[in-house]
Amino acid sequence: MNQVTLLGLPFDAHSSFLRGPALAPPRIRQALFSGSANLCTEEGLDLGASPGWRDDGDLDLGGDPAAAYARIEPAITQRLDAGSRTLCLGGDHSVAYPIVRAYAARYPDLTLLQLDAHPDLYDELDGNRHSHACPFARIMEEGRVRRLVQVGIRTLTPHQAAQAARFGVEIVSMRDWSPGLALDLRGPLYLSIDLDALDPAFAPGVSHHEPGGFSTRALLGIIQTIDAPVVGADIVEYNPVRDVRDMTAMVAAKVLKEVLGKMLEAKGLYDISNPLRVRSRFALLNMFWTE
Ligand code: MN
Ligand code: MN
Repeated sequence: MNQVTLLGLPFDAHSSFLRGPALAPPRIRQALFSGSANLCTEEGLDLGASPGWRDDGDLDLGGDPAAAYARIEPAITQRLDAGSRTLCLGGDHSVAYPIVRAYAARYPDLTLLQLDAHPDLYDELDGNRHSHACPFARIMEEGRVRRLVQVGIRTLTPHQAAQAARFGVEIVSMRDWSPGLALDLRGPLYLSIDLDALDPAFAPGVSHHEPGGFSTRALLGIIQTIDAPVVGADIVEYNPVRDVRDMTAMVAAKVLKEVLGKMLEAKGLYDISNPLRVRSRFALLNMFWTE
């Protein structure tokens, strides 16, 4: 049985500044399967040889934006009901609200880890309560999750600071973050990665350039040191229109590999405490995971 499903959500109708993220999923896949790289995670798991996941392609989200948006939650629920956890490729960040609604119905004690330059806690933006600047306000006002932890924030406005206080959001601002900072996360964990958490020097292909962010290495480090089970994830806000020589697509694909590895680990499909793995760090890694 395939237990983790990759699903593209080509949707950017709720973007406030630029369109483009709807074009992202096939571009990230292209980078993932590029002949210039391989499909191994840094833990040494060969995703190309792992039966633990499948790619469902892109959800059909054509036509009317409201109807398209309404299709996301049931698509996730359907996969969760079938025993498959989802790793979604955005799309703009507005997709996180319907995804997390589906997840919260299954995991009542869900913790949300959001990596982002922005808190996305606006009550509304430009008259749109479903703007990509609002999804975490919708999630929190409905009491969908046990905790929301935001890391990398560097654009907090007075309104959003008030929203964060109202909802009890735990914010680790970018200026307060340092490598190795313990986030004390307990599972089940849903991981939402807005690529603008990265510094635009590392990831120029996003709609909102916000300098002073993570290096790719630092972001990977956060993902790799999560010790709670990652039951679902999204990677959003890649905007190919803004990208430079597909470099951000490659960053998105790299992040995808590490997140997918984490999700397979959470499913117990390979055991990170396996002593063979530790011993094999400098040996031929893959032979230990051959099914
Ligand atoms: Mn953002
Ligand atoms: Mn965001």
